[in-house]
Amino acid sequence: MTTFVDDDPGYLEWAAAHPDGYVVNCGRTPGPDYLKLHRASCNFIRSSKRSNWTTGDYIKVCSVDLGDLRRWASGEVGGDLQPCQSCSPAPVKGNLPIKKGVRGGTGTGGGPSRLGTTKNVVEFLAALMAVIGGIVAFIQWLK
Ligand SMILES: [Zn+2]
Repeated sequence: MTTFVDDDPGYLEWAAAHPDGYVVNCGRTPGPDYLKLHRASCNFIRSSKRSNWTTGDYIKVCSVDLGDLRRWASGEVGGDLQPCQSCSPAPVKGNLPIKKGVRGGTGTGGGPSRLGTTKNVVEFLAALMAVIGGIVAFIQWLK
């Protein structure tokens, strides 16, 4: 893992040399609220229109190992990496990519039952709101 602060040439050189690598754009003092994960090849983080990649409010934390960056984010910063919408780096939260040849996870009915639960929650909340509305109307009627 390499952190580039006030070193645009070094950062751009790293990104050019590691197109398969990952770059976290974060504040000069990294905080959990902004840990944007990009592929090193993403245009958002190496467009030639800008030149203040590491010299302004933001710095770049780079690694070819996404696991390194995840550990850094959760361990050092206390947050989760937020994948860029444009370059769509690997999923950040949770699981490793599904291994090829491993079958399973289908046909257990998990999807429909989850949908059912969501529907029940929505109906419950609707009923709750109706009850609260009734109570409010009753209180107003008392006045
Ligand atoms: Zn990106």
